Amino acid sequence: MDKIILTQLKSLLEKEKAELENNLENFAKKNDGEWQASYPNIAPGENLEDQVNEVEEYENILPVERALEKKLKDVILALEKMEIGTYGKCENCDKDIPIERLLAFPEARSCNNCKE
Ligand SMILES: [Zn+2]
Repeated sequence: MDKIILTQLKSLLEKEKAELENNLENFAKKNDGEWQASYPNIAPGENLEDQVNEVEEYENILPVERALEKKLKDVILALEKMEIGTYGKCENCDKDIPIERLLAFPEARSCNNCKE
């Protein structure tokens, strides 16, 4: 892969990693390398309606947190692949992932044919 494009993709990935970590920090804590959405802190004496709202909010946040975490893992994996020189190969068919796809999704793990 072209060195200039690779450098460009690396900076995209690093920027994405920082943004994802910032987003996750808003509602999750890092625990032994895993992100966990903070469970609502229910104050004693708080009325039931508020408690219900907080738990509902937590339940709404969970899928968002999981999606961000999954993306962050893919971004980190892509950066690791750059280090070992296997970046840009489809994990499924081992073909090169097209540059246009990588520029749009630098963390892509599969080519256009193999993507879900
Ligand atoms: Zn493929």
